[in-house]
Amino acid sequence: MKKLETLCVHPLSGQDNIGGGVTSAILPSAAYHYLDTEERRYPGFYSTYNQEKLAAIIAGLEHGEWGLIFTSGMAAITTAILSFAQQNDHIIFSRDLYGGTWKLAEDELPKRGISFSYADNTLTSFQDALQANTKVIYIETPSNPLLKVVPLKEIADFAKKNGIITIVDNTFASPVNQLPLDHGIDISVHSGTKYLGGHNDLPYGALVSKLKIQKDPIYFTANMYGGSLSPYQCYLAERSLKTLALRVKRQNENAMRIAQYLEKHPAVERVYYPGLQSHDDYQIAVAQMQGFGGMLSFELRADAKELIKFQRSLTVIEPAISLGGVESLICSPAQTSHRYISSEARHQLGINENLLRLSVGIEDVEDLIDDIESAIDKSK
Ligand SMILES: *Cc1c(COP(=O)(O)O)cnc(C)c1O
Repeated sequence: MKKLETLCVHPLSGQDNIGGGVTSAILPSAAYHYLDTEERRYPGFYSTYNQEKLAAIIAGLEHGEWGLIFTSGMAAITTAILSFAQQNDHIIFSRDLYGGTWKLAEDELPKRGISFSYADNTLTSFQDALQANTKVIYIETPSNPLLKVVPLKEIADFAKKNGIITIVDNTFASPVNQLPLDHGIDISVHSGTKYLGGHNDLPYGALVSKLKIQKDPIYFTANMYGGSLSPYQCYLAERSLKTLALRVKRQNENAMRIAQYLEKHPAVERVYYPGLQSHDDYQIAVAQMQGFGGMLSFELRADAKELIKFQRSLTVIEPAISLGGVESLICSPAQTSHRYISSEARHQLGINENLLRLSVGIEDVEDLIDDIESAIDKSK
């Protein structure tokens, strides 16, 4: 088996590139001659050459057997969930969810007669939430924004014993840092918009699985709801993946250095990074992740005004929403991803007003630390 960096650059060695180029051709046709070829199996989803190639590359990186590509992470997530949950079924979600997934659970699923519960990041919490009609367990790990880690193998084993499908949102980790399918998870979903795309310019989604039996229901749902990505975007996504390992490993290193720096800073109340021994889930992270990722959060000893001043004083790190790209971005979850939740509920989730979430990019880490240092000084 080739190492990750090699696999990113030469993902499908031995496969011929149409036209004989080193890089893939872009084949935009959405219509195909049929008289002299076998009928295409899944015609509705415009399964083109570039989509299939990108799906095969991501499946390879995630140690899956097959994949599907979508126009957004949410399209991949809704397709995965709605493929296995029907009226009168029940889903267990890990408690800390991406805002869109949270809204899907709270607002959309009840309309379809699908009930759900939340579980904390322990096996017992998932066991306690089990019902006779539980069909799906959906996990986000590490989670947004406190980087909680859910033990994948334990929960996958528990789900298998009970005939439950497991889905993991692997967006925050990327396949460089975490391989859910290797821990027995059935389906891994991604917002490709984040680490896979990596440049804050390419919204897409991906879904990967090992099991052939899951392919038909998922393709069927994907056909019904649409959301297949254009070949041009697929090509850009394929190109971005060549540097995935390089980018994410650098982001891991930068984030670890910044987390260690922040942990010692007197103006910082608390740091959340799964690579720090002070993080509640450090041991689980060590056991199931190859790297700790480029996402970290911290509480600054600052009032609302100082928090804004701190962000405005940054000259390298940009106050912006989204994550996973080469540019370092910072945001206040209470004012962005979690602003629609009541402040009471937010505090229950452990998301305080002075919490900042940092998506660490690939810049020089000393420049990033200097930027934070001088912005803290200016915010006082
Ligand atoms: C951004 C994000 C999503 C949604 O992805 P889109 O591509 O924006 O639809 C889902 N899960 C996580 C963890 C995300 O960060």
